[in-house]
Amino acid sequence: MSDVAQRQIPAADGPRQSTGSLVHHLLDTARRTPGAPALLLGPYALDYRTLERSTAVVAARLRADGLTAGDRIGLMLPNVPEFAVLYYGALRAGGVVVPLNPLLKEREVAFHLADSGARALYAWDGVPGEPAEGAAKADVPHHPVSLGQFTPTGTEDLETTDALTERGPDDDAVILYTSGTTGHPKGAQLTHRNLASNTAATAGLARLTGADTILGCLPLFHAFGQLTGLNAAVLSGASLALVPRFDPAAVLATLAATRATVFEGVPTMFAGLLHHPDAANADASSLRLCISGGAAMPVEVLHAFEEAFGCDVLEGYGLSETSPVAAFNHLDRPRRAGSIGTPIAGVELSILDPEGRELADGQTGELAVRGPNVMKGYWRRPEATAEVLLPDGRLRTGDLARRDEDGFYYIVDRKKDLIIRGGYNVYPRELEEVLYEHPAVLEAAVLPVPDARLGEEVGAAVVLRPGAEETPESLRAWMKERVAAYKYPRRVWFLATLPKGPTGKIQKRDIEVPEAV
Ligand code: AMP
Repeated sequence: MSDVAQRQIPAADGPRQSTGSLVHHLLDTARRTPGAPALLLGPYALDYRTLERSTAVVAARLRADGLTAGDRIGLMLPNVPEFAVLYYGALRAGGVVVPLNPLLKEREVAFHLADSGARALYAWDGVPGEPAEGAAKADVPHHPVSLGQFTPTGTEDLETTDALTERGPDDDAVILYTSGTTGHPKGAQLTHRNLASNTAATAGLARLTGADTILGCLPLFHAFGQLTGLNAAVLSGASLALVPRFDPAAVLATLAATRATVFEGVPTMFAGLLHHPDAANADASSLRLCISGGAAMPVEVLHAFEEAFGCDVLEGYGLSETSPVAAFNHLDRPRRAGSIGTPIAGVELSILDPEGRELADGQTGELAVRGPNVMKGYWRRPEATAEVLLPDGRLRTGDLARRDEDGFYYIVDRKKDLIIRGGYNVYPRELEEVLYEHPAVLEAAVLPVPDARLGEEVGAAVVLRPGAEETPESLRAWMKERVAAYKYPRRVWFLATLPKGPTGKIQKRDIEVPEAV
């Protein structure tokens, strides 16, 4: 049963097949359509030939700096063309990319660099975070990056720049930091096979071709924007119109200027566009497909958006550990609003009970994923890996889900503690650790507080030491200085004690959130 009218599905020759390597995707696209725009940023355009040549410059520089195959390189950039140049350049040199959120502060940058063992950090000059301080703390060289920096000058030594370090399908390509099912950030090791298979699957799901322009407002450092946006565009020869930061007015202006055909976003982005005053006059006639993922899409928002923008919205599901797409409401099949759809080709989903046994249709259990997109493991964390990767290859997602009798999957809730604030993941335990460093804090629990605009806001229930003179405002300000702006707790309230379970563990579910905090 479909609740979507006729869709325009490009019949053309369809998406390109993957060669199994992201770098070869770029080389092939640059050979086939050298003059086609790869990346757009306002009036700035980088065509596929220049992108490919620039990655050769990056690879040569990395090699000159001593990079050898398998070395990790930190990238801390907003949505600018140089993200793609450095990402593909590092892969070309056989490196492993470690993307960092450009908002991260000193201690967070240092953690990511030290944990991944990165040999260098390339950071956009002027990011709001603290790349130089973090790199210094981790004793890693820091290289500021600016627009057009790696564009070839014609004086490069071609023999060196054209070199390509081939990597095997099971070698790491990207280490993507995520909290997974437990608190602390861990690096999901995504291999060349993981990325190439999911890139091809995603490009196929969206029927991407060189005629498409994707609106790129999802952050490239995160799985959704990087893998389904950038990499899928490169495989299919499509253009990626970058919007550095999500801002509804900027997205609508970019849509009008580029005549973008595909929009990808998290649900709060759809809601933000829908409720923006410019939406009424927006020309969305170029859009042929909108894709929602990263969090549950409220059905009302989905329908209202489709009506206002005259474009179908298809919901998908995935996580960093699955490179990322695992399920989708496919173009050529009926879709179900409120459902994450059905597994993508080559991927198997199952619903498990706590003992790992498969549950029947209609029963709620933990969603598990098996397929070529499932990560190798968490970087240097065998125990954390063993907690989520079952011996039979299935990955426990930490999400509770059920399947209907037609095979459609529904996310019921998430088992893990992750807070999703306006599409950004916020990991409570990380913030709790910082809170515990405050001399006045006795106990702390970070938990989501429902928020009409962001979906979830970050809340902190705190027990102060006797005699402490802190106020919620002073604690909030203290946190704001120490962690990235998107994650410090906006709502802080004090309690005399926190509820505990039999082992003394804090029971967050039993913490009451005051009406006004
Ligand atoms: P990340 O690893 O940052 O991509 O976050 C992955 C998590 O986002 C999943 O484990 C889910 O909890 C959530 N998520 C992603 N897509 C959806 C969706 N369509 N509906 C509900 N939750 C989702």
